[in-house]
Amino acid sequence: MVISTFFKRLLFAREIEIDKELKVLGNREIMVSPEFIVKLQNKYAKQIYEFAEETFSNEIEHIKNSTGVTGMKLLELSLNLLNLYGLGKFEIMELKKKEVIINLTFSPFAKLSKGKNCILIAGALAGVFKIFFNKKVRCEEVVCEGEGKLYCQFVVKVKG
Ligand SMILES: [Zn+2]
Repeated sequence: MVISTFFKRLLFAREIEIDKELKVLGNREIMVSPEFIVKLQNKYAKQIYEFAEETFSNEIEHIKNSTGVTGMKLLELSLNLLNLYGLGKFEIMELKKKEVIINLTFSPFAKLSKGKNCILIAGALAGVFKIFFNKKVRCEEVVCEGEGKLYCQFVVKVKG
């Protein structure tokens, strides 16, 4: 069994509890299957994006306030967290003042149906970067493994 160093660090610091309830960095979590999420996404795309954005921005805000971590460290922590939640492996390709390009490999949703399937992840990234930029953002998946590509790619733009 391979355990990520990030997961080990959290376990060691007692930031993951899995006794009576699953808690990560103080936030209650549950595990659900990717198929379940894809079914929801197919029916409620816009809502899933918005809920994911709201949920993750609240979560990252909570982590920011409780740990005091900010800036690039907070961004790294956030992407590690999305990875820990099973959303795949994220890599920042370009980070500009008002625009970010992120590549994702191993998306849990990509290959479950044809086309662009990572709506929840786009929303989650919007939530992460809303806190990072402290501004409203829009995240769009421009390339998806579900289209037969080798990775998924997201573009985050600061609004206005
Ligand atoms: Zn995708």
